[in-house]
Amino acid sequence: MTTIEKENLFCAYNYHPLPVVLTKGEGVWLWDEDGKKYLDMMSAYSAVSHGHSHPRMVKALCDQAAKLAITSRAYHTDKLAPFLEKICRISGMDMALPMNTGAEAVETAIKAARLWGYKSKGIAKDKAEIIVAEGNFHGRTTTVISFSSEEDYKANFGPLTPGFKIVDYGDIEAMRSAITENTCAILIEPIQGEAGIRIPPAGYLKALRKLCDENNVLLILDEIQSGLGRTGKNFCFEHEGIRPDGLTLGKALGGGMMPVSCFLAKREVMELFRPGSHGSTFGGNPLAAAVATEALTVLEEDKLVENSENLGAYMLHEIAQIPTQLIREVRGLGLWIGVDFDPERVSAREVCERMMERGILSKETHETVVRFAPPLIITREEIDWALEQFKEVVAEIEARQNAA
Ligand SMILES: *Cc1c(COP(=O)(O)O)cnc(C)c1O
Repeated sequence: MTTIEKENLFCAYNYHPLPVVLTKGEGVWLWDEDGKKYLDMMSAYSAVSHGHSHPRMVKALCDQAAKLAITSRAYHTDKLAPFLEKICRISGMDMALPMNTGAEAVETAIKAARLWGYKSKGIAKDKAEIIVAEGNFHGRTTTVISFSSEEDYKANFGPLTPGFKIVDYGDIEAMRSAITENTCAILIEPIQGEAGIRIPPAGYLKALRKLCDENNVLLILDEIQSGLGRTGKNFCFEHEGIRPDGLTLGKALGGGMMPVSCFLAKREVMELFRPGSHGSTFGGNPLAAAVATEALTVLEEDKLVENSENLGAYMLHEIAQIPTQLIREVRGLGLWIGVDFDPERVSAREVCERMMERGILSKETHETVVRFAPPLIITREEIDWALEQFKEVVAEIEARQNAA
């Protein structure tokens, strides 16, 4: 039995991976069972911004694992406060609540928003509403899928959690009309990653900020994927010079080593949590805290954010120049680019499979979009090589169609 056959026998079929079995990673590179080398253009959905097995991340992980790994928060440790101080300083938030996965950080944000709605805004019991955007992706828990607009994400998982309103992404008037006296928060991605790197109109975040201020509503940004340098700034909200009231982070926060997430907020929101109101056995453990602290230090010292800004702009420009009928649109900010293919001509899956044969790993999202989100340590030469392969794949498919 091959490794893939065995996985299919024992592992739930809740993903549809490309047919490659990875055994090793280093920097932007991955190797499969047969020793074939691939350039990683996916970075585990942006969780590997630091690259695979970054030596400083490995050291931080191993040193802390050998010293003290898990304590629960029944006790204090020497690692939690420095981590949260650092992430609060970088993001401009007052306080943080550490969790593990992204979905848990979003769940925490939802609880915080409702808590604030009842305790501070004075919303009547069980009436709090949170407004979200069509096309959103915030994770896979039962409550989070309750406000997804993707049928696949929620079919047969009901009854779903009430208290959410979905409006069109990027439409500020739709958002304005959806607000009522029971609205406690707007929860939104500053760029929709899983929807295919969907970028809202310029000024949207600024307009949301103003709308929230005028209506006493919390603005909560989910930057689990867009944060920590992915868009060429530490946080996507910096592109519009605003600050949210709440912020979720995850993915790259774990430095490519382990799941680390948190919900950050201003003090008046966060201080409403009391002992017993929320928690997580593993959240904020010293191993995760040490790894995340080092991840933030490396992000800064290795200038990953600047690299994302510079090489992202370069790559976007180069892809947009490709003369082809296959591509409908190219969207991106920083090293986070979505190439939208015309489904009448080719599936994004086929493009990914052909790139894989040439040693580049990407992944389609929503049938038509191929995503380029390499580790932020990637070099210009590596990008040039990837672009060459990509152009050849596009040319191959186009030649086949012209022949047909
Ligand atoms: C990945 C992602 C999540 C969920 O994170 P998990 O760690 O998979 O639970 C939530 N929000 C956004 C924007 C994401 O990209």
